[in-house]
Amino acid sequence: MVPASSQLRNAIVYILIIGIALFFLNIYASGKLRSMVFSTQEQALSDKAQLISAALLQTDTLTASAIESSINASEELSATRSVVTDGGGFALYDSLETGNAEGKLLLFPEIVTASRGNQVVYSRFVDGAIETRAAIPLMRNGQVLGVVYLMQYDRDLGALISAMETNILRISAGLELAIILVAMLLSGAFSLRLRKILYSIRAMRDGDYSQKLDIRGHDELAKLGREFNTLSDRLEESERRRRQFVSDASHELKTPLASIKLLSDSILQNEMDLQTEREFIGDIGREADRLGRLSQKLLALTKLDSNVSNEREIIDAAPTVEKVIRMLRPLALLRGIRIQRKLQSCSIMTVEDDLYQIVFNLVENAIKYNKDNGLVEVQLEQQGEDMLLTVSDTGAGIPEDAMEHIFDRFYRVDKARSRAAGGAGLGLSIVSDMVKRNYGTVQVRAGESCGTVFTVTFPIFEVSEELP
Ligand code: ADP
Repeated sequence: MVPASSQLRNAIVYILIIGIALFFLNIYASGKLRSMVFSTQEQALSDKAQLISAALLQTDTLTASAIESSINASEELSATRSVVTDGGGFALYDSLETGNAEGKLLLFPEIVTASRGNQVVYSRFVDGAIETRAAIPLMRNGQVLGVVYLMQYDRDLGALISAMETNILRISAGLELAIILVAMLLSGAFSLRLRKILYSIRAMRDGDYSQKLDIRGHDELAKLGREFNTLSDRLEESERRRRQFVSDASHELKTPLASIKLLSDSILQNEMDLQTEREFIGDIGREADRLGRLSQKLLALTKLDSNVSNEREIIDAAPTVEKVIRMLRPLALLRGIRIQRKLQSCSIMTVEDDLYQIVFNLVENAIKYNKDNGLVEVQLEQQGEDMLLTVSDTGAGIPEDAMEHIFDRFYRVDKARSRAAGGAGLGLSIVSDMVKRNYGTVQVRAGESCGTVFTVTFPIFEVSEELP
């Protein structure tokens, strides 16, 4: 499992680092604890030895009874073994009952060192107990008269320290275990979320755009999940639109084809006079024209979708509008419709073919959906920073509730009327896409008394006169 491994590797690294840190913390804590206890013990024992030494130096002779009474005089004294030797290392007094060394030569290293005039004190851990030894010389006039040697063996304190050290170790081990557990859980949860994302991405790659991720939280993965959901929404929507487009387009193509088939079958199967036959063939021609226009529009839309665009250039919009009017005037005249124009020269940055197509579709609609002997007004003017193109007609207008849909692909207000006029509901969606592509806007509203008014705006693009 590749994605989980990096997370696992991170978790292991953190666990190791924390483990090592805890290990050194343990060593430091138990070392510190021991050194604190040892120094207290050493201080106490050497103080005791000093006390005894001071008392002994008061006496003239170092007899066992004199020593014993000096040692007993110090009430708080409770050394495990107290020994006083003469300068040569022979024990004058030994507090031990069993193994009493009085009269014997004691060659403990501490006693040997002290008999050379040096003090010795140290503690150590022996079999779970703390053993502290102190040896100090009895000095008079620079002469070593003897040595006071004390040994303390504290099992309780040793046990206490051992217990504390064990506890620290247990707490550390528990902590490390908890960290391992949490790290594993977090890493597991992380890789689970990652696997979900991966699964959804693969499903989407294979064409299932309905994939949605339910990833909660505010971390990077949650953000990734939200981005994924937005992406899948978009893809789903564009896939839905693509399917809709293909199905609508095939439907639109089917109708004229079916008419052509029906008409040609009729000609072939029925005996008819020349006049009727010519009418039928004329109808076939019109259906073929419709097919031609339709495929042209479909091609335009496909081009728009694939963002294939010519270079935009700065042009004067008026001549292009004029050209469109000239082209469509014959169509208007067929139904006695007048086209009135008021064109002001306006420089805009656009693709000329786009502008031509936009104006053509709007003016053609204004004629198609106008009443006989109606009026079409085309106005081009500069308003502030914008070019304003207005196309208004005196037709039946567009119902209020249809206004928001008329720029949708294949949308027709009155299907029968529109089809009769040769439309497939693509003209305005081409207008809308082309206007957007040229950074403009298009709006529609009802005319003052009747008809419809379409307004297109583009930013004016003045060329500075100083420019070559
Ligand atoms: P079509 O190719 O069918 O004309 P359009 O996209 O150009 O498609 O227009 C969509 C629909 O909007 C038309 O079917 C028509 O019902 C309505 N429409 C467009 N322009 C006008 C207009 N000037 N007056 C009334 N209705 C219009």
